Amino acid sequence: MRIVLLGAPGSGKGTQAALLKTRLNVPHISTGEILRAAVAAGTPLGRQAKAVMAAGALVSDEIVLGMLEERFSQPDVLGGFILDGYPRNLAQANALEALLGRLGQPIDRAVQLDVAESTLLQRLAGRAKAEGRADDNPDSVAHRLHVYTEQTAPVIDFYEKHGALVRVPGEGSMEEILERIIAALD
Ligand code: ADP
Repeated sequence: MRIVLLGAPGSGKGTQAALLKTRLNVPHISTGEILRAAVAAGTPLGRQAKAVMAAGALVSDEIVLGMLEERFSQPDVLGGFILDGYPRNLAQANALEALLGRLGQPIDRAVQLDVAESTLLQRLAGRAKAEGRADDNPDSVAHRLHVYTEQTAPVIDFYEKHGALVRVPGEGSMEEILERIIAALD
């Protein structure tokens, strides 16, 4: 099964993707993690992305698409995958559709995790303390939520029009949410 996970920053995409990966036995592809690894490794692309990410803005479509194309050239994606953090705007949604079309691996389901903004803010504040991510400071969090509303939320309609969208309430225990997603995938 080929799945895209959608949801605001703090909606639990990364957490649920990790659980789904084990349950469905398919790779978890997170553009945020790929980018953080590039920043940590100090690659040329990582050096370009570092300040943009810390500010909570989007890295250029071109850079992220290049990274994604590289990841999708690996054979493990042929058995399905969970994509988390991409697409984040309509241009990325179209680029992904073209890329997966070329590979003959179209998306089966887009899962939107619905979480109230007050919960998002609480979770991101908690994560800032626990993990110290460079973009979990208050200014970057506010900017990420703004970018989400302006640019990423329209991607929900994109998948709805394609008949691939399922919406899942993203509040409750991790296990409850996982079971809701599994039920929605059937
Ligand atoms: P979150 O969902 O909590 O914002 P991610 O790990 O998905 O966390 O993304 C962290 C940051 O990485 C984003 O704020 C952005 O700067 C960058 N990033 C991740 N995915 C993309 C993407 N598809 N396009 C552009 N930038 C991205």
